[in-house]
Amino acid sequence: MPNIVQVQDLRKRYGDIEAVRGISFSVEQGEVFGMLGPNGAGKTTTVEILEGLRRADGGSATVAGVDVLADPSGVKRRIGVQLQSSAFPEHLTAKETVDFFAACYDLTVDAIALLRLVDLDDRARQLQEKLSGGQRQRLSIATALVNSPQVLFLDEPTTGLDPQARRNLWELIKSIRARGTTVFLTTHYLDEAEVLCDRVAIMDEGRIVALDPPRKLVDDLLGRGFTKPTIQQQANLEDVFLDLTGHELREA
Ligand code: ATP
Repeated sequence: MPNIVQVQDLRKRYGDIEAVRGISFSVEQGEVFGMLGPNGAGKTTTVEILEGLRRADGGSATVAGVDVLADPSGVKRRIGVQLQSSAFPEHLTAKETVDFFAACYDLTVDAIALLRLVDLDDRARQLQEKLSGGQRQRLSIATALVNSPQVLFLDEPTTGLDPQARRNLWELIKSIRARGTTVFLTTHYLDEAEVLCDRVAIMDEGRIVALDPPRKLVDDLLGRGFTKPTIQQQANLEDVFLDLTGHELREA
């Protein structure tokens, strides 16, 4: 698999803070790649450099064959970035919101087809501010796809969603991967990374401390002799919640 993102010795400092301390990694075309790490680890800084939104101090990075440091606007044309839905203009319908973002790229798109992809075509004429949280997240993914990006960047895509809406979004992300689009996501939900990501990079204090498929990271930990002090529960509160309220989406 060719590498669609290639990062070499990337560095970024804010005054005394070394936010990114010489990281190197690559993302393969067509995979879902997750970046995990505690608050302040340097994830957002890294992702914003790759999106062409922030200048690195050193190192190199290419995204879809474009040198991010030399040509940040070239990168922006080739990627999709999911904005928080609070950034959407008010008083536009779902379809008008998609058309608005396409116009920002000087493109006209089949907005209904994009809405169908995220299962929102039946909401095309509804004002975006009247959509549920899960629907707005899906709309923000539709807007990130207007320029047929080679890499889709998703920042905490399921934060604030109920368990049904989270699972629905996971299915959407899998279907986007199945169409051949590479997905680069950050998340604080480790279950989400385990379900969705082909590989995850774990960042801590500006460095990548592990990078592998989730299963391999777990196997390596077990191989180092790790055992849990308590026996795993066979079910948890989320299982109770889903058992009682079902897996169906609850969207008005
Ligand atoms: P979170 O999970 O909380 O979003 P993160 O892993 O995305 O954290 P960053 O936002 O990249 O981490 O921050 C890395 C470090 O750089 C932190 O110590 C943060 O305080 C600092 N930092 C980030 N942006 C700036 C800035 N614009 N000016 C100064 N320091 C910054």
